[in-house]
Amino acid sequence: MSALDGLYQEVILDHSKRPIGKGELTETEAALTATHHEFNPSCGDEIDLSIAVDPETGRIRQVAWEGQGCSISMASASILAQLVRDDELTVDEARVRIGAFREMIQARGAVEPDEELLGDAVALQGVSKFVMRVKCAMLGWVALEADLAQVEARR
Ligand code: ZN
Repeated sequence: MSALDGLYQEVILDHSKRPIGKGELTETEAALTATHHEFNPSCGDEIDLSIAVDPETGRIRQVAWEGQGCSISMASASILAQLVRDDELTVDEARVRIGAFREMIQARGAVEPDEELLGDAVALQGVSKFVMRVKCAMLGWVALEADLAQVEARR
């Protein structure tokens, strides 16, 4: 195992131990909100992921989620919530990040991920080599994508 692999595993472990964004949506005042349930039948992972968006600026004020499943799926949702929070993403920016993440995770290691776009999510790059785990890693991101579509339809 390389030092980098070890570092990546630590990131994933850290997020699965202390998940970010887990809990209820609280920033709902004068916000556009959406909730989506996503299920991954191949592993049994489930998530309910909610967002609150500022209708003026299009900025995602909060990502909140509840879920259960393997450590990859839960860590990935936590990393996603952190990314949206720390980079104060708008709906459009979040779409770009989801696209970059999907590209990385479906590339089977053939694409060098953009760390500026993906932050801690680059730690999940190794998952792309395991076809069965791709859906685990994508779970929260697919749910966010569905929430964004709901919000966009009402803006
Ligand atoms: Zn899973």
